[in-house]
Amino acid sequence: MDELGGNSLHERRLIKRAIDEIYKGDAKKINFIWIEANGCTGNIISFLNADQPDVPYFLKEMVNLRFSPSLMQVEGEVAFEEFLEVLDTNFILGVEGALTNKEEGFYNIFATYKGRRVPTAEAINLAAKKAKAIIAIGTCASFGGISAARPNPTGCTSLGEFLGREVINIPGCPANPLWVMGTIASIILNKKVEIDEKGRPIMFFKETNHTNCPRRSYFDNKLFAQKLGDKECMIKVGCRGPITKAYCPLGLWNSRINWPVEANTPCIGCASEFFPDGTEPFVKY
Ligand code: SF4
Repeated sequence: MDELGGNSLHERRLIKRAIDEIYKGDAKKINFIWIEANGCTGNIISFLNADQPDVPYFLKEMVNLRFSPSLMQVEGEVAFEEFLEVLDTNFILGVEGALTNKEEGFYNIFATYKGRRVPTAEAINLAAKKAKAIIAIGTCASFGGISAARPNPTGCTSLGEFLGREVINIPGCPANPLWVMGTIASIILNKKVEIDEKGRPIMFFKETNHTNCPRRSYFDNKLFAQKLGDKECMIKVGCRGPITKAYCPLGLWNSRINWPVEANTPCIGCASEFFPDGTEPFVKY
């Protein structure tokens, strides 16, 4: 066990190093803006489950969370002014939810300021021009996800596609807090976040869930579950582990207690670039 109480995994060491370096004054706390675009805000809720470090610690020692619709106390025009103020500082931009300019972007309103409605798309364009790093948090921001699912009446796209530039994608519906925390720690340490061809941090998205699945030997031996609850590989009841690059079987969820397959339910591929149109039906009976 390391000093954070977890295993000596690379990303936990990274987070601890960021904390240590901030303490020593070698790395600086950085301003953070977390914008909620077209989505369910499930990523910020998931992030509140972070426990190593936990969110109070994250807020106290790692970042100054200057803007977050779900967590900040101020609201209305004062909140928007706070957002504008941060744009002139060194900050990381995190975005959850997909983006759209359809109907002049009014499917998602960021603020009403001096009588004018400011679409979230406009606010993100403003912030993206100045951010030190841009992180798409969750599958909607990373790949369009559920917000862009067929028939996509709102015309949603991913953050990277919307901005027309490379961003760091942390998919997952929602994104796992550990993956978000580890990526932010890398940025605080001024480390280059190594990403794959889909913009995902390689440290969390190098392999599929299938590669590290504890039921993998059943798959290799062609022993398949016929119904949910059977102990064998669940590919025939809809598991999407083979097409889903993620860290679920290694980093786990809910304070590293479990992940879907170990809870007897197939991986639905929520971190996959194909989710949800290309991964449903999620369960086959
Ligand atoms: Fe792969 Fe899913 Fe079978 Fe696990 S249960 S071995 S992830 S197909």
